[in-house]
Amino acid sequence: GPALLFVKTSQGKEEGRRFYACSACRDRKDCNFFQWEDEKVSETRLAAREEYNRNHQPSLTHRQNVDRYKNFVLLPLSKRRFCRECQQLLLPAEWEEHSDHQFLCDISTAQLKSPSQLLYPLENKKTNAQYLFADRSCHFLLNLLIDLGFRQVLCVGTPRLHEMIHSKASQEEEFSVRSLLLDIDFRYSQFYTEDEFCHYNMFNHHFFGGEAAHETCRKFLHEENGERVIMVTDPPFGGLVEALASSFKKLMAMWKETEKEGHDNKEMPMFWIFPYFFESRILDFFPSFSMMDYQVDYDNHALYKHGKTGRRQSPVRIFTNLTPSMIVLPEEEGYRFCTVCQRYVSSGNQHCEICNSCTSKDGRRWKHCVLCKKCVKPSWFHCNNCNCCTLQKHSCEKTDVGCFVCGKTGHKRSACPSLSRT
Ligand code: SAH
Ligand code: ZN
Ligand code: ZN
Ligand code: ZN
Ligand code: ZN
Repeated sequence: GPALLFVKTSQGKEEGRRFYACSACRDRKDCNFFQWEDEKVSETRLAAREEYNRNHQPSLTHRQNVDRYKNFVLLPLSKRRFCRECQQLLLPAEWEEHSDHQFLCDISTAQLKSPSQLLYPLENKKTNAQYLFADRSCHFLLNLLIDLGFRQVLCVGTPRLHEMIHSKASQEEEFSVRSLLLDIDFRYSQFYTEDEFCHYNMFNHHFFGGEAAHETCRKFLHEENGERVIMVTDPPFGGLVEALASSFKKLMAMWKETEKEGHDNKEMPMFWIFPYFFESRILDFFPSFSMMDYQVDYDNHALYKHGKTGRRQSPVRIFTNLTPSMIVLPEEEGYRFCTVCQRYVSSGNQHCEICNSCTSKDGRRWKHCVLCKKCVKPSWFHCNNCNCCTLQKHSCEKTDVGCFVCGKTGHKRSACPSLSRT
């Protein structure tokens, strides 16, 4: 889909030069598209690019994949193979072609219902960054949505939640939640119909399936008989917040347009799952959002697992525009309700009388600094040189690399002043 317009800034210069680059691949190794904003593009180069794009389309269309799936499920177990190298369900006529590839046999219906287990996670940090929810977190999310009364879930980059909803719907008669997956991972088109999955880029709001896919999404967002919709998204953490926010606003606008009365002044309910250190960035774009203390855990991410068992605590949280007091967090995992803040907080998150808020962001107990007039991480101390709280071990000279969170120079991510905005 469309490229994004970036700006190259060099130190000391006010204005940088603007250029277009791929929205989805943040690593030039994955996609080398680059073009200065003011660059004249020759006919030859344009033709070459179009040729390149044509040659890099998936070999099968979504429609073809859906037809293949229909044939696949008719096969006896002994003839159901999945090529691990091509990440593709194989029909018997194709075995030959893949004879020197590794494959899985006897693909059961249960396996077909959990493609996220069958497919290997695309862990490439800069592009797909596929980190799958641990069962505990996925169940928690789903139960929460159901308890809140939602019956339609727009899953944007959350294949595992989508698959949990789908397999429940096919197994339990009285389970009436529906789900639509929007994801850039086209492998999922082998397992879901056009009404269940849209090939989508969340960095530029591009539907690869064109107007028909757009319409599928629009239809899905339309709330019939009071079946309320919520969007749940878990984007790659390296993603640009402004690009994501711009796409999510477009999805919100789509939801708004589906209702003749225009939903008054309401926003489409949303869960945006993202690390806590992006709090201020997200609030810049969505002032109605607040961050929940719940720590989201992942299966294939060694660092982002639950703290209880002595492993590291996950920095990943839920940002939502729903009223915080409605988001009930599990008491058996140590969360408790703070009556002053009117929200559930981590067990270690103490209510600070001076800030008048439960101030911890990472689940540990934070301490109040009277000089900074705010609560800070337990490991920080007040440095009179820098005139702020920071790590004990720091050099008072400022760094000149931009901060990962706010982009400003002078401090690193861990000391970003926008982190602990209250
Ligand atoms: N925790 C989620 C997965 C999150 S990983 C779960 O278990 O369901 C991030 C997801 O976003 C992956 O599914 C990945 O394929 C998808 N993704 C990555 N870049 C994307 C893009 N540009 N547009 C849409 N989806 C993208
Ligand atoms: Zn193969
Ligand atoms: Zn509190
Ligand atoms: Zn405080
Ligand atoms: Zn201080």
